[in-house]
Amino acid sequence: MNSSSRRDFLKSTVLGLTCNGVLAGNMANRAKADDTSKNVINEPARSLPVFAEADVCVLGGSCTGVFAAIRAARLGAKVILIEKQNSFGGTATNSMVNVWHSLMDTEFKQQIIAGLTVEVIERLKKRGAVKEERRSKSAGCSFNSDEMKIELDEMVKEAGVKPYLHTFFSMPYVKDGELKAVIVENKSGRGAIKAKMFIDATGDGDLCYRLGLKTYTSEYLQPPTTCARFSGWDSVGGKFNKLFREHGEEYDVPLGFVWGRGVPGSDVYMLAGTRVYGVDCSDAEQLTKAEIEGRRQVRSFMDMIRKYVPDNEIALQALPSQIGIRETRHVKCQYQIKGEDVLYAKRFDDAIANGSYRVDIHHQEKAGITFKYLDGTQSYDRPGYPSVKGRWRKETKTNPTFYQIPFRSLLPGKYGNLILAGRMLDADLVAFSAIRVMVNMNQTGEAAGTAAYLALESNSPITKLAVGKIREVMARGGSVII
Ligand SMILES: Cc1cc2nc3c(=O)[nH]c(=O)nc-3n(C[C@H](O)[C@H](O)[C@H](O)COP(=O)(O)OP(=O)(O)OC[C@H]3O[C@@H](n4cnc5c(N)ncnc54)[C@H](O)[C@@H]3O)c2cc1C
Repeated sequence: MNSSSRRDFLKSTVLGLTCNGVLAGNMANRAKADDTSKNVINEPARSLPVFAEADVCVLGGSCTGVFAAIRAARLGAKVILIEKQNSFGGTATNSMVNVWHSLMDTEFKQQIIAGLTVEVIERLKKRGAVKEERRSKSAGCSFNSDEMKIELDEMVKEAGVKPYLHTFFSMPYVKDGELKAVIVENKSGRGAIKAKMFIDATGDGDLCYRLGLKTYTSEYLQPPTTCARFSGWDSVGGKFNKLFREHGEEYDVPLGFVWGRGVPGSDVYMLAGTRVYGVDCSDAEQLTKAEIEGRRQVRSFMDMIRKYVPDNEIALQALPSQIGIRETRHVKCQYQIKGEDVLYAKRFDDAIANGSYRVDIHHQEKAGITFKYLDGTQSYDRPGYPSVKGRWRKETKTNPTFYQIPFRSLLPGKYGNLILAGRMLDADLVAFSAIRVMVNMNQTGEAAGTAAYLALESNSPITKLAVGKIREVMARGGSVII
């Protein structure tokens, strides 16, 4: 676009917006007096350009958001996908968490998850970027996160989704009680994206929160972890847990839980062993603290290894562009999934996702992790200590083999053109400890994208959709719907 047509474009698409959605009018560029007693300043109202317009706008481009966007686009919607990082994939790529759990029920008899999760796995297999782990309680496959970034780019392009990377959602624009646009910031400045439907897939529920919808945090948040990739891990491998138990305190690294996987198609190892306690990563200062402390702990691991494993060949190869965030806000929705819904595998008429990953509570108040399984068994595990096994309920002849996520746990209500997908869904501490894994969150994305399209097509609020129709269209698109 040359400079004069760009001027025309801007002229024709300027929205008079202020942060709270009041038309700027003659308020533009005239700030109210700052209120120093409340420690606030008043940003001058101004007109913003509309960067783009679509049927569906998805905020957050992890696999959850990407899958939402692709589903809606494949059905025929014009879709915009906004992501603050330089690539898609969220925790799976930019935080280096490279394991997806089983797509089967707990007895490995019935496939309960398919859809875009399977499509991605199949595409990555062709690149030698996946290693399958059949019949494992702790993983279904590991993958190469960087290959995944490129694969997601391809899939977004193929679906005709319009992507915006390095683009940060900051505020909603509500006019006459209706959510009309979102304000974003990127290299081009501050502008608006207008859409008919919005999907909040930011993990932290940023859109819902800034709309003033009801949010809550669990009584304690599961701690974030900075992952790291190392070469030469084989020279340390089996010794690490004992080393950590014996010397973690010397290096001021809290004994949490350690796991890792080789990165398929490479010779590096991804280790998830750090823990930053007592931070809420939806708060800018605490997030900053967590990033710096997580990296310090990675260096401490290196120092510990270099001191106590003299013949090690370890070298740090890569750090994530974002600390791995397990949990921040949840959004109050039409239904909160409870621990017993998961542990006793409740069936829902409006189920849009199935899962078999165990309850896995990363403790804040003590080291380690508690696993609870659908067969009534449980274990408490800490690095370098034997697993403490027990039961959380009495033995029964038969056990449930998978649980479900209801559509209502993605619906905050109030705005008929808003749905969420991902880890901010409405779930209590125990339920969330199981359902938060990616193979489950991916399905919430697919449900949100499908529902957004159907709401558009039928011109009805997303809250009024017939759930049977959503389930039917999801199944047609490749999801396992039970
Ligand atoms: C260390 C660690 C290990 C884990 N281990 C596993 C595991 O082995 N297997 C597993 O399946 N799950 C695991 N989990 C859990 C799982 O990774 C998360 O629950 C899941 O990825 C959450 O997905 P999400 O899409 O809701 O959120 P996220 O992956 O956090 O994605 C949110 C996306 O939104 C973007 N975003 C956020 N705010 C904005 C904004 N304002 N504007 C624009 N973009 C924005 C982010 O950049 C990101 O791309 C682990 C989590 C952690 C932290």
